[in-house]
Amino acid sequence: MHEFLTKQELFERRLDIALEASGLDLWENDLSTGEVVFGLTKVFYQLGYTQQDVVAYVDDIYALMHPDDIAAVKLAVERHIDGQTLRYYSEFRLRNQTGEWVWFANYGKIVDRDDHHGCNRFTGVCFSLEEQMRYKEELNALNARLAAQNEQLEKMNQKLHRLANYDPLTNTVNRRRLMELGEEEVERARHFGEPLSFLLIDIDFFKIINDTWGHLAGDQAIRAVAQRCEEELKDHIATLGRFGGEEFTVLLPSLPQAEAEVLANQICNFIDKEGVWLAEIGQIIPVTVSIGVAELSCIGRGGFSELIDAADKALYEAKRSGRNRVCRAPKMPLTSTFTAL
Ligand code: GH3
Ligand code: MG
Ligand code: MG
Repeated sequence: MHEFLTKQELFERRLDIALEASGLDLWENDLSTGEVVFGLTKVFYQLGYTQQDVVAYVDDIYALMHPDDIAAVKLAVERHIDGQTLRYYSEFRLRNQTGEWVWFANYGKIVDRDDHHGCNRFTGVCFSLEEQMRYKEELNALNARLAAQNEQLEKMNQKLHRLANYDPLTNTVNRRRLMELGEEEVERARHFGEPLSFLLIDIDFFKIINDTWGHLAGDQAIRAVAQRCEEELKDHIATLGRFGGEEFTVLLPSLPQAEAEVLANQICNFIDKEGVWLAEIGQIIPVTVSIGVAELSCIGRGGFSELIDAADKALYEAKRSGRNRVCRAPKMPLTSTFTAL
């Protein structure tokens, strides 16, 4: 049999469908009596309560609300009633039948204010925030995991950076990084017309140290010589690097060759005088180094490799002429712009 619906009934059915599909529970309070005129049944069912538990007064709802949320909800209601807000919105927790707190949100408006007849319809919808909260928690957990992973990545990057640029035994710049820095410094010095000096330091008769006290003691000697160099270089703009084996380099931007030679002699004399302490054998052993000193003016238009080459030749000369000494690479003769007739 066909059912004839009034316009009002049709409207109510449409509204029911909309509320059901969107998970909204419609409510209406009478502000003058504090009565819940309509609704909140769905919310109560959702919380595990029965039809008998559905409350009749607004104050009964506050009794189910988390104590920390009550003040904010009341304030939001007051501000809307006072006309400070166009609509009322609040979020709060309600206690369910098993005593757990469940998040909800309320959205409402005063739809029919009649101060003379004491009728104040405050109407709105209530909906669960559980899914939203779950997403939020998942997002927070995900963010926390991401932050931890980022921190780990940052640490690994730092480690990688150290491995790529520093020598693990002496903690000085490694050969790969030295080559990069050297090229940069040559370019910079040329650009600004400044001097750039370079030292190549080699431990004398190092093989004997290894053969006499063992490889571990040899490692300690390499580390100790690097420390001695650093002590002498601490007041200079200088980069100490390990070129390989028992050979070190020092990049000295802005320092002319004569001053670099003085510094090289200080390093040479200091190591000769102090020797190095080897924990492995518990004693100080005598150590000397030979040093080659080169400067940009020794290599004409050459690059960093030529600078290393020039220092290496000077170092060879220091070795050949007796070790424990400093030799400087010769400057390039100035080419005359005048040709003899
Ligand atoms: P010179 O005065 O002519 O430089 O003599 P030298 O004995 O120092 O030179 P040589 O090049 O013959 O020997 C260098 C030695 O350094 C050979 C190698 O076994 C040793 N060596 C290279 N790298 C390391 C290292 O990392 N640790 C240790 N303990 N020894 C190393
Ligand atoms: Mg060597
Ligand atoms: Mg050597």
